[in-house]
Amino acid sequence: MLKGKLYTQAVNGRVRVYFMQQGMPGEDPNTPVRIYRKLADTISFSFGMAGDAMGNWVEYIDNMKLTDPGVTCVFEGQLPYAYTFCEYMDADVEIGHCYVYWVVSQGADNTVLGPTACRVRDPEVWWGHKRTVAELEKLAAEYPDLIEMKQYGETTMHRPMYALHIGNRKKVVAVAGAVHASEPGPELLVRAVRHIIKMRPDLLDKVGLAMLPTINIDVREETVNGTPHYLRKNHNGVDLNRNFPWEWKEDFVYGVSNTIPESSTYHGPYAGSENESRAAMAFVDAVVPAALFVYDSSSVITEDTLLFDGEPADGPSYDYANVVANIYSKGFRADHPGCGTFTAAPVSFPPELDCFAETGKPTATFEGWAYYKYFCPAFSLQSSNSKEGCCNDDDQVPLERLEQWSLRHAYALIAVMEFLAKEA
Ligand SMILES: [Zn+2]
Repeated sequence: MLKGKLYTQAVNGRVRVYFMQQGMPGEDPNTPVRIYRKLADTISFSFGMAGDAMGNWVEYIDNMKLTDPGVTCVFEGQLPYAYTFCEYMDADVEIGHCYVYWVVSQGADNTVLGPTACRVRDPEVWWGHKRTVAELEKLAAEYPDLIEMKQYGETTMHRPMYALHIGNRKKVVAVAGAVHASEPGPELLVRAVRHIIKMRPDLLDKVGLAMLPTINIDVREETVNGTPHYLRKNHNGVDLNRNFPWEWKEDFVYGVSNTIPESSTYHGPYAGSENESRAAMAFVDAVVPAALFVYDSSSVITEDTLLFDGEPADGPSYDYANVVANIYSKGFRADHPGCGTFTAAPVSFPPELDCFAETGKPTATFEGWAYYKYFCPAFSLQSSNSKEGCCNDDDQVPLERLEQWSLRHAYALIAVMEFLAKEA
């Protein structure tokens, strides 16, 4: 007899469909089933701004019916059964598409589980925790004299949070990713760091790098596992980029109060309440960076719109931050081989985003906290809406674009590191 709910997980370009069955004593619990599927590409990654709640998509999926057009039976019979779980591996799916599943018992109970939706993403483009740790270990093993891998705390679900320290430890550029779950992280940053190590080992002697590739590790797993829509908050439902102890207070960015737990920008029960925020702070406290770049955009890549929120025009490093931002942007946009073309409106610093015009800028952010603690230039990197990047609310960035944009960020970071190397 079917129990509970229907689960799905994207695994290396296939979909694992699984559920529980239990029987009365003496009864065979493994009832034959039918599995139904519908292609559901209408479910998009995100709609509108990053701050939008995603509840609408959950309801959209919940309201799909077995009798809807396009629903077909993809399996009929008895599935392998182990420890109350039945599993069906659907290999007849394609990367880039979204599928909705149901399972219907063919026993006396006629139970229906589902609908449950799964998006099949390219596993080279979106990396989960396991892949990320393997890539960090691999990189550290390749350059044992250059790289140290260190743990800074653990996530809400107790996954270890690792960072790499590369090269010089006194003057350091820090990079961090995925403070929001479905945003740029390890895939972009590990690739960029690899380029820098290959291209400029000399420079790393003078200015080091420190990388915390994924902050919201737990919920990013859900994106990698196939949750179709954009995800933002951590496992406790807290927007980590509103949880840092700098100006931690009520704000209304994206039109919602960050004090409401159901809002997409909920700032948590108190400043620095979350394991992930505390680990990110421990990372910055250990590094004391000369500059911090937080890669942030509702996609797997981001561009050169560098926000320095929280930094007032009369602040002590405002002009300096402006200089650094311009250097980064120039390096990012330069015409280097292997980077493809980049077609976007010029960005001026500090950029003013329409989405903050009426509501004010976000507070209690990671980069804002780092800026006020160390007065280092600290930025959140957003999309510049380039034609090629198509990275405003899009989870379908092709691998080629991810490769090109990671190289662009490598050149941008090299430009900043060269500038810092010249400084006393
Ligand atoms: Zn974000």
